[in-house]
Amino acid sequence: MSDARRPRVLALDLESTLISNAVSQFARPGLASFLTWALAAFERVVLFTSVPEERATAILQLLISEGEAPPEAARIAYVQWSGRQKDLGFVRAAEVDEILLVDDQERYIVPEQRSQWVAIAEWDVPYAATDRELDRVRAVLEERLSGT
Ligand SMILES: [Mg+2]
Repeated sequence: MSDARRPRVLALDLESTLISNAVSQFARPGLASFLTWALAAFERVVLFTSVPEERATAILQLLISEGEAPPEAARIAYVQWSGRQKDLGFVRAAEVDEILLVDDQERYIVPEQRSQWVAIAEWDVPYAATDRELDRVRAVLEERLSGT
């Protein structure tokens, strides 16, 4: 039996994970259904990105308005953080072992928090429409939620 706590909070990177990047802002294939599922499956979903808050929030709102993200994605909170790595201690009101972070960049992962990282392949040029990483990651997250 694992001694890890059941995940409650899902932290999501933005660039190359959910979208292309903060400039072109293409939605990754499957984004809307992934976010719809995640917002129902976790107590909280937060955005943990190096894109500044104002810009990240505007991108999220644009995705919602274009139907690339569900309306309830408006409640995804932005994590205020600093430093070179995405220390999960910056996520409020949750213990580190209650948080899972989906990110394409290993360099952002705090080595001691590696067990909380769910790696996703970088969505990069030419931004293939056949990409199915969000579906694959959802299955990984479902396993983590069920404790297997
Ligand atoms: Mg990224």
